[in-house]
Amino acid sequence: VAALNIENLRKVYGDGFEALKGISMEVKQGDFFALLGPNGAGKSTTIGIICSLVSKSAGSVSVYGVDIDKDFPGAKKNLGVVPQEFNFNMFEKVGDILVNQAGYYGLPRALAAERAEKYLRELGLWEKRDSPSRMLSGGMKRRLMIARALVHEPRLLILDEPTAGVDIEMRRSMWDFLKKINEAGTTIILTTHYLEEAEALCRNIAIINNGDIVEHTSIRDLLRRL
Ligand code: ADP
Ligand code: ADP
Repeated sequence: VAALNIENLRKVYGDGFEALKGISMEVKQGDFFALLGPNGAGKSTTIGIICSLVSKSAGSVSVYGVDIDKDFPGAKKNLGVVPQEFNFNMFEKVGDILVNQAGYYGLPRALAAERAEKYLRELGLWEKRDSPSRMLSGGMKRRLMIARALVHEPRLLILDEPTAGVDIEMRRSMWDFLKKINEAGTTIILTTHYLEEAEALCRNIAIINNGDIVEHTSIRDLLRRL
């Protein structure tokens, strides 16, 4: 079964704008997949629908075979999403953010604390566990969002423009981290508007433009044809 399957997904916003014109795509278990497209193409809309922050107008989305309309809690167990915008409670402590997120996913308290520690350490945030999230630097906030998306150990991790506005050093270390967790078996989808980023990390790619998928192929095939 595919990690992610999207069929004929359509989104018309309240003002009548058609942001997605019936897109279909499939991402296999273990893949490192790029959804590449310019600003305004429909990438964030697609991710918003997958994590059910945005309603869809038509079509279907399944995560590991679970249709998000039929069983969103079931789909969500296998899904971690890193949004583009920092959306924490600014006053909550870094450690508490992770423990509480694990709690949302039904992890028992002791396991939640264990997972929080594991991911804070892996992302270099353990020393900041008692700081309110507003005290973190931009790069640390970004890493905290990744830790939060991973704390329930989802099989599919989706990141919306993870390296936008991140300096080169931070970008490299984020790339290394994502490669490592992909090698350990987590399926990854990221959106980007840099072909270079897709090329450095991903095996397969869909290119989205004006709400349509215009390519859905391997990076190798795409580069051969460019
Ligand atoms: P991307 O993430 O690829 O930059 P988005 O999915 O954010 O693209 O946006 C796709 C299109 O939908 C853009 O033209 C954007 O202006 C439009 N759009 C996004 N959100 C809304 C909204 N809430 N209402 C109307 N149009 C929107
Ligand atoms: P619940 O559905 O359990 O009430 P929410 O959807 O309100 O949880 O999510 C709580 C916070 O976590 C929100 O800020 C939301 O943006 C974020 N979030 C939701 N789903 C995910 C996910 N799959 N991965 C990471 N963060 C998520």
